Amino acid sequence: MTAEILCVGTELLMGQVLNTNAQFISRRLAALGITQHYQQVVGDNDERLEQAYRLALSRSDVVITSGGLGPTVDDITKRIAAKVAGKSLVFFPEAEKMIEERFSQFHRKMTPNNQNQAMFTEDTTLLVNRHGTAPGAIVPMGAGKVVIHLPGPPIELEPMFRESVEPYLAKQSGKVLLSRYFRIFGMGESEVDSKLQDLEKNGNPSLSPYCSLGEVQLRATACANTEKEARDMLDPVEKEVRTRLGNVIYAVRDDDGGSLAVSCIESLMKYKKTIATAESLTGGLISATLVEVPGASNVVKGGFVTYQTVAKTMLLGVPEQTIEEHNVVSAEVARRMAEGAREKLKVDIAVSATGLAGPGGGTPDRPVGTVFLGISTSKETKAVELHLSGDRARIRQLTVKYALDCVRKQIEAENA
Ligand code: AMP
Ligand code: MG
Repeated sequence: MTAEILCVGTELLMGQVLNTNAQFISRRLAALGITQHYQQVVGDNDERLEQAYRLALSRSDVVITSGGLGPTVDDITKRIAAKVAGKSLVFFPEAEKMIEERFSQFHRKMTPNNQNQAMFTEDTTLLVNRHGTAPGAIVPMGAGKVVIHLPGPPIELEPMFRESVEPYLAKQSGKVLLSRYFRIFGMGESEVDSKLQDLEKNGNPSLSPYCSLGEVQLRATACANTEKEARDMLDPVEKEVRTRLGNVIYAVRDDDGGSLAVSCIESLMKYKKTIATAESLTGGLISATLVEVPGASNVVKGGFVTYQTVAKTMLLGVPEQTIEEHNVVSAEVARRMAEGAREKLKVDIAVSATGLAGPGGGTPDRPVGTVFLGISTSKETKAVELHLSGDRARIRQLTVKYALDCVRKQIEAENA
């Protein structure tokens, strides 16, 4: 199977935009073992694009286009491909749904010309665009040849290529793609990236990190002739990634599921330990997050929502004097809360959180985002100080993640 890249856009010919898409796709094709003999760049011009398609299809099996999927008149990539295939573009309701979803996510209003982005030839397979409005497409061109349309912006093209095009191409070329997912908490995306850069020498296995609130997920994907061969390629990568990143990795899985809460529940079940929570600023969110995981009832005994001071004293037995002396947002109060929860509910481990979620209430020595977590087991009781940034919702959500991360580390440290 041979592939050819066809980049569409006058800005590329004018030198206004560096053709990074061609470089990215070429690297990935090489890693998949797919041969490329030619590449083309063409401006936004009907006749010349048509010629470029005909030439590419005369000598390559798969033609991968980049750019020109937008809603404006100079976005001609799909229309000319349809012309070359001798077909017409028809309206795809599922494509319109994808576009609508993206618009509502971006809080933008759809304009009538966005309908153009939902037009494809009949037998097209749509590709999801997680970062933009224009769906991608795999378009059969007859005689076993296909054109694959990808959006121009690299931030849209790259994930679409990795997530949708690579599995398709691997299947077409009789290869197996196998992925392993690393879930990481407590290290930023760029640090993860810089620690692992040299591991991606020939792009196979490839490593791609992506982040969500406070977390990084890293996917290692191997392309091989058999599943066993792919697994043998992934094993040493996993070993090396584990060595370099250490215990910021909280799970390694064959699928992209999992979460800090899942890992906590799994550890608690593995070592037959029970847990309780004592929550102030999170108002029950730590407990709710744990309980979302099936099987939580085996290990989660219960929790205390102790929002005001009076609840901390009445329900957890935190002495009023401690609160007055140390401030309600303090390491000492976090420790006392965790101890109180552990003793009252007779659990193996208790976690607590007290802090300032804002927007009001901050002081110079305790600004908004100051949070103390407490962890208490029969072996020790300790506190962790956090300085989080963001709005109220973000601070509360991050507090939950840090609390769960503390729990899983404590369990592993005491039992592993
Ligand atoms: P388009 O989909 O043609 O409207 O392209 C949208 C934007 O994507 C352009 O303005 C460029 O910034 C970027 N872009 C298009 N083609 C490429 C390419 N081959 N490499 C890198 N960036 C590109
Ligand atoms: Mg363009």
